[in-house]
Amino acid sequence: MPTEFENHEEMHATTAHPPVSPGESRPVLAAGLYIVSTPIGNLRDMSLRAIDTLRGVDGILAEDTRTTTVLLRHFGIRTPLVAYHEHNGARLRPKLLSRLQAGAKLALVSDAGTPLISDPGFKLVAEARTVGITIVPVPGASAVLAALAIVGLPTDRFCFCGFLPTKPGPRRAELATFAKVPATLVFYESPRRTAEALVDMLAILGPRPAAVARELTKHYETVREGTLAELAAQFAGEDTPKGEIVIVVGPPGDEAEEVSQAKLDQAILAAMAHHSMKDASEIVSAATGLPRRQVYARALELGKSRG
Ligand code: SAM
Repeated sequence: MPTEFENHEEMHATTAHPPVSPGESRPVLAAGLYIVSTPIGNLRDMSLRAIDTLRGVDGILAEDTRTTTVLLRHFGIRTPLVAYHEHNGARLRPKLLSRLQAGAKLALVSDAGTPLISDPGFKLVAEARTVGITIVPVPGASAVLAALAIVGLPTDRFCFCGFLPTKPGPRRAELATFAKVPATLVFYESPRRTAEALVDMLAILGPRPAAVARELTKHYETVREGTLAELAAQFAGEDTPKGEIVIVVGPPGDEAEEVSQAKLDQAILAAMAHHSMKDASEIVSAATGLPRRQVYARALELGKSRG
């Protein structure tokens, strides 16, 4: 079972003579910290350089050693692993930095995709730079880029917004900080919060074009596109989606110009799936620019017709 490297000797002891299978050589790497991207689903997205690097370093810092053990086994990599995550990072960093300063070669990986992108590693990289450690990128998969590359929304300028807060109040407040950003917005979201996040995005960002990309690079990869009003209505009426999700929202435009009755109804029904009629009317009024009284009157009609 992989353990934390408690001291230098332990790391040397575990790496002095790593087992090497016939035909497998350990590449010679310069000292430094290697930031290595790993696949976000499809193992064949692992780069040759990522494999070389993980074979060649003295140790691998992994967000979750169980997940990374599966990856390493798949590629026949036997380099020792150390758990490095937000709960032990502060304690481990001084030891890791002194190892690096003494000339070690370490790699950082996360469970999937590129480390530091909504994953651990920022503090380690920042502190390593301040003490002059060489940091080497080994780029590869990341869900933000995979989603942007396929959903058909503008890519000339984008803003990666990470995960939104889980509670509605803070979530809307944070969305408001992105409302005027003149760029495509990219969010990571948990499947169980996707429906309510779409409603709040509609409320704060307006009925912009958007896409929900799910299970990228995996067997059930899907992309749903539409305005935020359409997507919010669709997701509100469905079971919780399964798998991993990226939401991409187009830049601000002229979406507030004209709201058809059908779209207004969709937006109201989507908002009412998660909020009271009064709150839903406020949300839709903010999103569409229509007077709150008008939206509330329509919400009442829709409420009655639904019984
Ligand atoms: N570091 C990773 C990267 O570079 O994409 C992201 C790590 S973050 C903890 C995990 C989130 O990324 C998921 O909740 C989801 O929003 C997104 N994600 C990761 N893999 C994905 C995939 N295959 N399809 C869609 N979204 C994915």
